[in-house]
Amino acid sequence: MKNRIDNSRKKTPWDNSNDEDIIANFIKEKYVENYKYKHPKLIDTKESEILNSIIINECRYCNSKNIKKNGFTKNKVQKYYCNNCKRNFTATTGTIFENHKISITEWIEFLLDIFNYGSTTLTSKVNKNSINTSIFWLHKVFILLKHWQDSILLSGDVYIDEMFYKVIKEDIKTNEGKQLRGLSENQYCIGVGYDGKNIIALVEGTGKPSSAKTKETFGKHIDYRSRLIHDDEKSHRELVKDLALEEERYNSFLLKKLDDKENPLRPINHQCDLIRQFLNTHSGFNREDLQDYLNLYCFMNSNPKNKLKKVKILLNLALTTKITLKYRDLFEIKN
Ligand SMILES: [Zn+2]
Repeated sequence: MKNRIDNSRKKTPWDNSNDEDIIANFIKEKYVENYKYKHPKLIDTKESEILNSIIINECRYCNSKNIKKNGFTKNKVQKYYCNNCKRNFTATTGTIFENHKISITEWIEFLLDIFNYGSTTLTSKVNKNSINTSIFWLHKVFILLKHWQDSILLSGDVYIDEMFYKVIKEDIKTNEGKQLRGLSENQYCIGVGYDGKNIIALVEGTGKPSSAKTKETFGKHIDYRSRLIHDDEKSHRELVKDLALEEERYNSFLLKKLDDKENPLRPINHQCDLIRQFLNTHSGFNREDLQDYLNLYCFMNSNPKNKLKKVKILLNLALTTKITLKYRDLFEIKN
């Protein structure tokens, strides 16, 4: 990923002038006040209380149990020393909060903005962060949600459908200068399943769906006692047979003649529309991250509905998952 020009949102045009311009000084003062409010000092956030409440029994580097408490950081976070590998560590070592530049407090606001369908551009403006910080933090969320959909099992009335999403302009394949028609290589096929409580959305590949891909996508995620509600897409047949599902199948040609309100597949159509809107909010995103965006969408739209409860789930995951993401690994920093 390219490193974008990173103008700090802390700057004002009057930082180096000793001008007595009252209006300019007033704007500067208010702006900086707000910036400080959005970027509290770690010591003032009481973040250390959360971090120090985490029970630590082993070394974050070598897993040795031969550790001891070893004073505090300047932000009052408990430090530990490992007698085995002779290194110091804290509760954030080895997690996405390691060497974090923005506080856990700021992360709460960041997550709420994302859950409210904010783009990274907008989110960075609202939180007075650089765009890179927002992208960096979004990718931290992505790594936490990598396996979010793995354990989702849809049950009861289960709707499934396929939706298609275009590759980015540069990747469009043409045949003698003309764009390929229909469900070509230029479209990603996304399998979507929904049971009214939870949702799954998985990239099946490019082009048309196949029986094999349908089974691979939905097979593990549908309870065998469910009733499958779907259109007459051929590739669904083997899935129904394999899981011996009860089914309600609709002819897509006839469905097209119905008013949206009368359409029995409305719940799944609605989800597909929302997914498209969500992806379009992050327009121009790297398609290699398509599955990550879908994981995030599914997390946002599955139970629990309450956004603060979702923040809590992610914060818990972040503090307990041993995984880090380095800024320089995400961005190609020139020189
Ligand atoms: Zn160790």
